[in-house]
Amino acid sequence: MNNYPIITKKIIKDNEALKKIQKENKKKYGRKMLFGYPKASIPKVIIENGYIDMVGKQEHREPKVFKLSELLIDIEKSELTGMSGNNFPTYKKLKSAIAATAKNKIIIINGAECDPGLIHDAWLIRNKLEDIIFGSKLVAEMVNASEVLLATKLIKNEVIEGIKVKNLPNRYPIGAERILIEEVLKVKIDKKEIPVKKGILVLNVQTIAAIAEIAQNKFLRGSRYITVADYCRGEAKVAKVNYNMKAKEVLEKIYGKQGNKVMYAGSGIMGAHEIDQDENITPEINFVGYGYKMNYDNASKCKKCGTCTRNCPMGIKVNKIVSCHEKNISDNISQYGLEDCINCGTCSFLCKAGKNTMEIVNMY
Ligand code: SF4
Ligand code: SF4
Repeated sequence: MNNYPIITKKIIKDNEALKKIQKENKKKYGRKMLFGYPKASIPKVIIENGYIDMVGKQEHREPKVFKLSELLIDIEKSELTGMSGNNFPTYKKLKSAIAATAKNKIIIINGAECDPGLIHDAWLIRNKLEDIIFGSKLVAEMVNASEVLLATKLIKNEVIEGIKVKNLPNRYPIGAERILIEEVLKVKIDKKEIPVKKGILVLNVQTIAAIAEIAQNKFLRGSRYITVADYCRGEAKVAKVNYNMKAKEVLEKIYGKQGNKVMYAGSGIMGAHEIDQDENITPEINFVGYGYKMNYDNASKCKKCGTCTRNCPMGIKVNKIVSCHEKNISDNISQYGLEDCINCGTCSFLCKAGKNTMEIVNMY
């Protein structure tokens, strides 16, 4: 299933509600440009409008006598995977962090949530900060980390119970792991290197909150928080859902049936796909929402504006790749860096010719 941005700059420009939300966000977070990358300014296009627990009450469980030595086994048993949507088993990542021989190990709690259609990480920071702090301390002890940093746009630089908050600029995609590490630690990680093996452990805020729940015997296996949105209207709710729920039913339960809109699911609105009728919520799904029918036109002629290349966080020469594609020349196309693409969708979002340039980059 191919994911693609389900929003473009033009859609925002043509929708008064989305335009207003973007303006407010730009005002709130400023338009500070940093050197290097990321470069794209793509503020939120939705606002939070409540929380819905669709999982319901869990069975009564006795609080557990917590033992740090057993936590890793409990995390493995819980089948917890990275809540950013990567679906990598958390216990394996923690094991690598424990085994890392770096002198000073660092944990970065990723609360960047840079996708313009997601709100649930921000909601967790506002509503579950206690769990996030507790989970961070447990992980720090487990992997013997010397420092824990919470990376977020929501809180200014300060120290909260021993955790350093690193305020992030509002650039997209600041939450991508290597980009986040460079922004927070000013350390460049080569694409062949694995950060955790160098003693830099990055965990999503929801993963950390889940670890705190596991330690307290409160975690519900196979459940997670997601964003459920009607982004045509610019509003969204945070929902707690189970993996066996149908994505379509979750959306209809919250926003009703809306035949004139398209149903999408994915990692966010910069990477989503049309929902299959029987598609379940999975660990990769962060977002379920109603949106517009996308009309990318890859046959349209490139306007040679260079916007795609100027804003690509990985420095890929997107315009050159598009030009080769239009001329049907694929020799030496790899010199433009296409293997570095992280599928952030920025180039497609901004393309002045309405092309899905991310798709073109991934064709080769
Ligand atoms: S080429 Fe890839 S990394 Fe660069 S902006 Fe497009 S999708 Fe993002
Ligand atoms: S943004 Fe679109 S129109 Fe502009 S150079 Fe890139 S591919 Fe061409």
